[in-house]
Amino acid sequence: MTGNGGVSFWWQQIGLPAGRPPLPGDRDADVAIVGAGYTGLWAAYYLKTLQPDLRVTVLEQRFAGFGASGRNGGWLTNSVTGGRARYGRAGGARQQQAMNETVDEVIRVAGAEGIDADVRKGGELNVARTPAQLARLRTAHAEEASWPHTDVELWGPRRTAAHVRVTGALGGLWHPHCARIHPAKLARGLADAVERLGVTIHEDTTVRTIEPGRAVTDRGTVRAAHVLRATEGFTPGLSGQHRTWLPMNSSMVVTAPLPADFWDEVGWADAATLGDLAHVYMYAQRTADDRIAFGGRGVPYRYGSRVDADGRTQQRTVRALTALLREFFPGAARVPVEHAWSGVLGVPRDWAATVGLDPATGLGWAGGYVGTGVATTNLAGRTLADLVLGRDTDLVSLPWVGHRSRRWEVEPLRWTAVQGLYAAYHLADRWESRGGERTSPIARLADVVSGRGH
Ligand SMILES: Cc1cc2nc3c(=O)[nH]c(=O)nc-3n(C[C@H](O)[C@H](O)[C@H](O)COP(=O)(O)OP(=O)(O)OC[C@H]3O[C@@H](n4cnc5c(N)ncnc54)[C@H](O)[C@@H]3O)c2cc1C
Repeated sequence: MTGNGGVSFWWQQIGLPAGRPPLPGDRDADVAIVGAGYTGLWAAYYLKTLQPDLRVTVLEQRFAGFGASGRNGGWLTNSVTGGRARYGRAGGARQQQAMNETVDEVIRVAGAEGIDADVRKGGELNVARTPAQLARLRTAHAEEASWPHTDVELWGPRRTAAHVRVTGALGGLWHPHCARIHPAKLARGLADAVERLGVTIHEDTTVRTIEPGRAVTDRGTVRAAHVLRATEGFTPGLSGQHRTWLPMNSSMVVTAPLPADFWDEVGWADAATLGDLAHVYMYAQRTADDRIAFGGRGVPYRYGSRVDADGRTQQRTVRALTALLREFFPGAARVPVEHAWSGVLGVPRDWAATVGLDPATGLGWAGGYVGTGVATTNLAGRTLADLVLGRDTDLVSLPWVGHRSRRWEVEPLRWTAVQGLYAAYHLADRWESRGGERTSPIARLADVVSGRGH
């Protein structure tokens, strides 16, 4: 393997950005946005599009796209984080429809702004590789199909293999509302687009505290009527936010480009994103230049909510992901794994994403997407813009708006609980690989304890 960290393979591939100037001292703005990932950039984009004379300042500790937005698996998908059911029948259906539209909205803006992010809408395929996973797949299909706007199809082993030949796949669940993207190209293009609209982005500027009317940084204070927190997995680093969202690690490896004869064997012609039904699940994409980018959990959580250094990931995670990738696609072993990296995503205690604005303080927030933020950040950005501008739109009455989760436990309980949960999920996957149809009782228990549902 040639690379580990360097923020991500995606950034290494297109080159790390030169860097924008930091905040030059105290400044005034109408809206200050903390964090230049997709959430912050989308909020800035829609604010400026809707009201061009608004003074919008984005404050970023490193550079735009440094976080999960420049490191992810590139699934631009419609999933409702935390599940639709929590919002009731009508609310869940509205949230789902909004997510479907969001996938197309991102594609539309990328086209309109000339952002070439390797977008390809081939849908999302999740495969089952054990009888227990297959049973879960069928249950998931029945559950999904009982909702409007989901458009899911249950595929048998032959149809699945005709689409993507994954070793041992017993079936698949497919839906059309997902596109493959190049994460860093989207982040870079979006940052350039908001600058063209007149938004100021200050990089190398760390916000220490967010208070009503101001964001206090290491370089000065930005006074603004509205301050929006868009820091997702990094949120515990902000004063007073230590227990809001847990920074969960996710890691990825990417192969060298694979030759034509590999693709003749495997298919995967429309580049649908690929996942599985394991408890410690994987996610993958076929890249525009014919690599496989393959992700999974690795070491889930670092004590005290610490985050990685510039995306470096542990050797044992690299080994585990490489082995799983080659189990799925034995033919991929003919080329080396070229790069590995990791990033953090934000997990609320109840696993449900949220967006909101407190009109009394002018403080807004969005995040807690638990690994499905690539599309959701756009919905969050549009919603934040409407909330700030006081627009009475359909978006501001979606059920996730203003949602609050309880906070995470204090350390060492939090660390012990997360380690225990992931040990349980690994154990459950091993138990299920012996061939039974039942979901491991250990995983069921872990789901109850974690507040996570499948
Ligand atoms: C490895 C990995 C794979 C993933 N795969 C997928 C996927 O395939 N599909 C999907 O939908 N989701 C995926 N996700 C999740 C998705 O990437 C995130 O949900 C999404 O990018 C979050 O965007 P964001 O802007 O809210 O946060 P981020 O992109 O993390 O941006 C937050 C920004 O805030 C900055 N910041 C933090 N603290 C401060 C501070 N104090 N002061 C100033 N700036 C600060 C950070 O530097 C960062 O740039 C994945 C995540 C990871 C890590």
